[in-house]
Amino acid sequence: MTPFELAEPRTLREAVALLATGETPVRAIAGGTALMLMMKAGVFQPARLVSLRRVAAHHSEIVATPDGGLRIGAMATLSSLAHSAVVKQAAPVITQTLKTLSNVRVRNVATLGGHLAHGDPHMDLPPVLTALGAQVRTLSPAGERTLAVGVLYTGYYETVLADNELITEVIVPPQTGWRAAYMKITTRAADDWPTLGVAVSLQMESNTVKDARIVVSAATNTPVRLTAAEDTLRGASLDVATLTRCGDAAVSGVDLAADAHGSTAYKCELLRVYTQRALRQIVAAS
Ligand SMILES: Cc1cc2nc3c(=O)[nH]c(=O)nc-3n(C[C@H](O)[C@H](O)[C@H](O)COP(=O)(O)OP(=O)(O)OC[C@H]3O[C@@H](n4cnc5c(N)ncnc54)[C@H](O)[C@@H]3O)c2cc1C
Repeated sequence: MTPFELAEPRTLREAVALLATGETPVRAIAGGTALMLMMKAGVFQPARLVSLRRVAAHHSEIVATPDGGLRIGAMATLSSLAHSAVVKQAAPVITQTLKTLSNVRVRNVATLGGHLAHGDPHMDLPPVLTALGAQVRTLSPAGERTLAVGVLYTGYYETVLADNELITEVIVPPQTGWRAAYMKITTRAADDWPTLGVAVSLQMESNTVKDARIVVSAATNTPVRLTAAEDTLRGASLDVATLTRCGDAAVSGVDLAADAHGSTAYKCELLRVYTQRALRQIVAAS
């Protein structure tokens, strides 16, 4: 590993001022679980790393908002999210997802901000947070902005974040009337990287679906909303015919990439089947 400077600012404003504004390879480092792997592999050689360790104490709070939503500091570790009673209460699908997201050693140091900013399409929480309608707040020298998690990703490991822009907070809106499920399909251990991820969130009015969000990930370059599949659900009751129509529409609405975890045909079948299983899980829990 080539030598680099390590800056340890005490505030987020100092941190964004220290981040790259030109050619120099400068990056923030939070838990370091993704960045250190890239450095060890030689695909990223920083001139300077801006550690967020000293700002963590002020930006890792997990708070239930009065309306029933959540405000989560970007430096909250994935373990703290997994064990949070307020997260379990407001959005149990997040708690459930974290059970098989990597392993406890990674979860203990990895942060929500680093998880969302990394842009790896195999990450488990971006599709879940997109389905929940969550937003990120960011800070850069240009000021603050709020973005839907669903618009954060532009390509494989690419986001809309500027080089000197940090995620400061994640906002999960109240989920009153909504129910969600996430299906992580792996071909090896249950906590392996997903071959395919499907997140579903439904707003129900008695037995009828009022609104729906369905998001696929891992076999796509970014998390993708399956709008054609969502359309099959609005105004429908969740009977077998609707589930079948929805599964078929999910597959028709997206291009899935083959890789070492499976062919495109295999992943299409996974998507068809697991979209329906997610819907069934929501019905069973209602
Ligand atoms: C063995 C292993 C198995 C894994 N398995 C899974 C899995 O099954 N599912 C899954 O979803 N993930 C998995 N992961 C990935 C893991 O979730 C990520 O490595 C982790 O969430 C990244 O968070 P971090 O804080 O360590 O980020 P870092 O490594 O510190 O940073 C990652 C990137 O985000 C940037 N960054 C960090 N914080 C911020 C911020 N606040 N604002 C803007 N940019 C920021 C950094 O500059 C860097 O570019 C696995 C990782 C490992 C090592």
